[in-house]
Amino acid sequence: MATSKIIKPNELVVSIDYKPPMKWWMDTPAEFKPGMYCWGAKKKNLDAVNFPNARDWSPKEEDWKLPENWQEILIEGLKDKLGKYRSFRLFMDICVRCGACADKCHFFIGSGDPKNMPVLRTELMRSIYKRYFTNSGKALGRLAGARDLTLDVLKEWWYYFYQCTECRRCSVFCPYGIDTAEITLMARELINLLGLNTDWISGPVANCYLKGNHLGLEPHTIKSSIEFFLDDIETITGIKIEPTFNRKGAEILFIAPSGDLFADPGTYTAMGYLMLFHELGLDYTWSTYASEGGNFGFFTSNEMAKRLHYKVYAEAKRLGVKWIIGGECGHMWRLWHQYLDTWHGPADFLEVPVSPITGTRFEHAKSSKFIHIVEFTADLIKNGKLKLDPTRNDHLKVTWHDSCNTSRGMGFLEEPRYVLKGVCNNFYEMPENTIREKTFCCGSGTGLNASENMELRMRGGLPRANAVKYVRDKYGVNMLGNICAIDRATLKALVEYYTPDVSVAGLHELVGNALIMKGEKERTIDLRLEPLPGKEGKE
Ligand code: SF4
Ligand code: SF4
Repeated sequence: MATSKIIKPNELVVSIDYKPPMKWWMDTPAEFKPGMYCWGAKKKNLDAVNFPNARDWSPKEEDWKLPENWQEILIEGLKDKLGKYRSFRLFMDICVRCGACADKCHFFIGSGDPKNMPVLRTELMRSIYKRYFTNSGKALGRLAGARDLTLDVLKEWWYYFYQCTECRRCSVFCPYGIDTAEITLMARELINLLGLNTDWISGPVANCYLKGNHLGLEPHTIKSSIEFFLDDIETITGIKIEPTFNRKGAEILFIAPSGDLFADPGTYTAMGYLMLFHELGLDYTWSTYASEGGNFGFFTSNEMAKRLHYKVYAEAKRLGVKWIIGGECGHMWRLWHQYLDTWHGPADFLEVPVSPITGTRFEHAKSSKFIHIVEFTADLIKNGKLKLDPTRNDHLKVTWHDSCNTSRGMGFLEEPRYVLKGVCNNFYEMPENTIREKTFCCGSGTGLNASENMELRMRGGLPRANAVKYVRDKYGVNMLGNICAIDRATLKALVEYYTPDVSVAGLHELVGNALIMKGEKERTIDLRLEPLPGKEGKE
């Protein structure tokens, strides 16, 4: 991990300076500090999705190779968004500068940079809105909090709107419900009109558009990754699982985030899915074409997210499935649950999901025909359909990270805890003001999980890490559970940096450990091929 090259944790903590700067914020241009931003989008990736102003460029260079009329493009874009989204216009108008949100952002807490206060982050855009769209701003300029759209302002937007993970924590504390995540979404859409994406977002977007998943995995690679997991499952349980791929006529299409097929600890989560579905005898199929539950288009623009999602419904139609289960992913869930109807209308060619095991009808998915695996599994446990031995997870003391999108965004607060308590005996909550709706972000969501911005990630992850450290010191916690693929990747780096004796696991890894499968041999090792409690030396 690149964190070895960055400032050490104790130095990072003491370097945070909350003193207000001497200069007015409008007179302080963004300083591009190494480790605090991502590389710029490459030409080939913007070309792949026909995005404007495709060229190779670097945020470090003076010349960003912008189109001549870039101000006009941005102002017109802003006008379009203000006309389209009433909430956006309201958020521009109604802030009373009460400051309730100021210290709620993990990036402000970890950096001390005032422009990471949600109120000021929004002000970066509000000042332009005022200058070009309000009479007071046009007449009074700075006196009314307005300023011209200069190159410095554009660079400041790029720097700070890629220092927001759209986690929405600030909105929980705002008395007016102003959602800075929405402002960041708008800002990123606008700067994408000028070709100003990051490499780490635009690369996966291009891969997903061309190959069906962020990692650019080919169908045979997907299949062989899963076959590799199947070998491990056979070693652990003695059971040979034979899932199907691209099978027409299956009842259910299952779509996981591609990260689960590629890197630990997501791979263990994928093993859990495979074991669970096999044990249930579920009539389901994987797809090697619609092979991505996540959607980095969401970190780019609404239109790009819609384009990337389309493959999922197209594949469901091609295979003739009845409904869809999504794997453990955070923004996938938010997008699919919250945006699908607006993009595509009700998926009337599919059926309302009904669990073939419990008969539960998932009414909330009446329109999208898609459910998240955590609710599917919670329903199985509630109906007594799984044989579980939680003592197999007794070597773990688990705490739970509420992923921003699944919990604060979409309300999965009880389901994951219900499953966790069913499969593990040692569960400890982090402090109340760091979980559930008030959960702290992993610090690297919305496509910030690159390696060149590692200092930013570790600063943004500080409040989450601090809460993990608290339960580690108090209860001996050694495992951080979650249901988000980005979290599985980013929290791994975070705990390695701050609390290296804590590991990270997806929920279905713990389900796979506890699941008693028909015909299995005596288990001596867990899904990581490590000895189960009391079985040391027998593996
Ligand atoms: S949405 Fe999250 S990252 Fe963005 S300003 Fe609010 S608290 Fe900070
Ligand atoms: S809490 Fe809301 S109203 Fe108060 S400063 Fe923040 S965004 Fe503005």
